[in-house]
Amino acid sequence: MRVLIVEDEPELLDYLNRKLEAEGFACDKSADGEDALFLGEEYDYDLAIVDLGLPKLDGIQLINRWRENNRNFPVLILTARGKWQDKVAGLEAGADDYVVKPFQIEEILARANALIRRSAGYASPEMRFENICIDTRAKSVRLDEQSLDLTTYEYNSLEYLASRHGQIVSKTELTEHLYDQDFDRDSNVIEVFIARLRKKLDPQGKLKPITTVRGRGYRFELKPQG
Ligand code: CA
Repeated sequence: MRVLIVEDEPELLDYLNRKLEAEGFACDKSADGEDALFLGEEYDYDLAIVDLGLPKLDGIQLINRWRENNRNFPVLILTARGKWQDKVAGLEAGADDYVVKPFQIEEILARANALIRRSAGYASPEMRFENICIDTRAKSVRLDEQSLDLTTYEYNSLEYLASRHGQIVSKTELTEHLYDQDFDRDSNVIEVFIARLRKKLDPQGKLKPITTVRGRGYRFELKPQG
């Protein structure tokens, strides 16, 4: 899942970036509102984390502009303690949730995961598809109740495809959600991940959870349960 982090304090920006990347998110960083506005218009993020006090364009204006332009990814705002007016203004501008500074990183991660899950239409942290269970909180997968050993990219590919089950996801879209801006993207790499993922999810080749739609991309074929 690809996340945009907008924060003008360099140390905090690096800290958030490091912690989110350690959780398997692909992160883009931005230190001012104008740059963030551009990135949010350019890329289809799964989540943006936005500090409200920003140079050039403040966080409230930034969120307002995104929402006016139909950029609908979930937004988590960071607000200074005690500034409840900012919190309200942020939510009214179209943010989805907030965390008060100073924060515990666990709270950011929990809220980030919950927002991404909800925007994909899942209230529960677990997505179940026949014999496959994806735990988006633990970022783990069980096949027939046995834990599967997946790499971060394999897991992220699966979570993204499963959250869009029944829809065709192009290689470009998948790449954009798996890697940050600076990554050297290569669609052959995606093919390798998908091939490995198929083997792990469907060792006998019977269920075919991920199909290739020729020339268009991949589709997760199983239907969610519960
Ligand atoms: Ca700030």
